[in-house]
Amino acid sequence: MTNSQLTPGIVPGRLGAEDYARNFSDIAPRYDAHEARVAADRCYFCHDAPCMTACPTSIDIPLFIRQIATGTPEAAAKTIFSQNILGGMCARVCPTETLCEEVCVREVAEGKPVEIGRLQRYATDTLMETGSHPFARAALTGKRVAVVGAGPAGLAAAHRLAMKGHDVVVYDPRPKAGGLNEYGIASYKSPGGFAQAEVDWLLKIGGITVQNGMALGAGLTLDGLKADQDAVVLAIGLAGVNALRAEGEGLENVLSAVDFIAGLRQEPEKAKLAIGRDVVVIGGGMTAVDAAVQSKLLGAENVTIVYRRGPEKMSASDHEQEHATSVGVRILHNAAPVRVIDNGAAREVEFAYTEDGPDGLKLKDETFRLRADQVMKAIGQTLDGAPEGLAIEGGKIAVTGAGRTSVQGVWAAGDCALGGEDLTVTAVAEGRDAAEDIHASLMG
Ligand SMILES: Cc1cc2nc3c(=O)[nH]c(=O)nc-3n(C[C@H](O)[C@H](O)[C@H](O)COP(=O)(O)OP(=O)(O)OC[C@H]3O[C@@H](n4cnc5c(N)ncnc54)[C@H](O)[C@@H]3O)c2cc1C
Ligand code: SF4
Repeated sequence: MTNSQLTPGIVPGRLGAEDYARNFSDIAPRYDAHEARVAADRCYFCHDAPCMTACPTSIDIPLFIRQIATGTPEAAAKTIFSQNILGGMCARVCPTETLCEEVCVREVAEGKPVEIGRLQRYATDTLMETGSHPFARAALTGKRVAVVGAGPAGLAAAHRLAMKGHDVVVYDPRPKAGGLNEYGIASYKSPGGFAQAEVDWLLKIGGITVQNGMALGAGLTLDGLKADQDAVVLAIGLAGVNALRAEGEGLENVLSAVDFIAGLRQEPEKAKLAIGRDVVVIGGGMTAVDAAVQSKLLGAENVTIVYRRGPEKMSASDHEQEHATSVGVRILHNAAPVRVIDNGAAREVEFAYTEDGPDGLKLKDETFRLRADQVMKAIGQTLDGAPEGLAIEGGKIAVTGAGRTSVQGVWAAGDCALGGEDLTVTAVAEGRDAAEDIHASLMG
């Protein structure tokens, strides 16, 4: 018997094969050469371009768009990669609507920006598909650097260090490199195995060894790495998940949204993934939206995001919220979970309405319940596994300058490091800058 959206419980195969194929296809397919030239022609090639200032990796956007406009996308790609070696992934996942495209003069004047993200993808895909790598290593320095964590920050640091002539070993406990590019980003933003293709392409620079199955705190120690290598970069992301702090949190089918997404990303046949008829996602950020949207795309009948404050406080952008509602996700504001009600596993969630006043968030007496076969927690991630002895501030590794930690010879970059938004592009910028600082300090 086949399942449908109305089948009770948590089951696979709620949709037809064509629905899965459509739902998990590329959300914004790559432009062809003609479309790219037309989009590039809208750029004014501004002097002191605001888009460039808004880009955390400071890509020379007017230059790369001009290179596309003049029919040299490979040159455009090199302009992008010189600042952001993960420019291919960033072209797919950057919230451009709150970064470069938000400040584009075309957006300000006409409400329609130059499509910088899609142009970036056109250029980077064009070059990457040739299989060539646009950079070569400098003369070898004989210096060795350990990078802990193979996410965007670690990979960007490793690439820049290798380019400068240092030998790099990247350690990561997971079977594949890429961090959240591989295990977190929504499937429809990066379909077709792009994350691994990008890692393989990045490693073509040479001089980088990736050691999977190796974790700091489980076999590796900071002292050991410091003793063996000339510098260490910590790029371990945020591996912990905040607790719901509601009764029934430990019940079956109350799960971390990040784990749900990781499982979804690793399953090539989406029809095999079991999903509830009623799914409740608790949180207000990108992870909540991605978990909710993908639950809906797997065929859940009712998917509700519940956020404890008002819409203006959600960290998911307006664009992301609109995307969620456009696929049929309901978003409820000003409500917090008080308990998960069960019959052995999750059945319903009880919420209290909240009031967000000058004295903080207060729960009101009035409550309501939502049916829930699955309850997904998307209420933030936390630093987990940072080595002892490092200064921690605001729940992250304290850094000064370009990622220098409180321990000599140890840098930190990406989500695990203090400062900057938790975005792929920010992680890349921090990894790159830490690498430049390490190079200066090793060769100085
Ligand atoms: C569900 C989800 C969706 C997202 N979507 C977007 C998006 O669309 N756009 C966007 O810009 N940003 C998005 N983000 C944020 C973005 O993915 C992160 O900001 C970015 O991946 C941070 O890079 P990082 O290298 O610091 O950390 P990570 O990508 O988390 O990589 C850290 C790496 O360190 C490894 N590691 C962890 N602990 C250890 C240890 N003890 N020893 C060794 N290695 C360790 C991990 O296995 C991992 O490979 C999303 C995040 C999530 C959770
Ligand atoms: S702000 Fe817009 S128009 Fe100006 S250079 Fe950037 S993309 Fe082009």
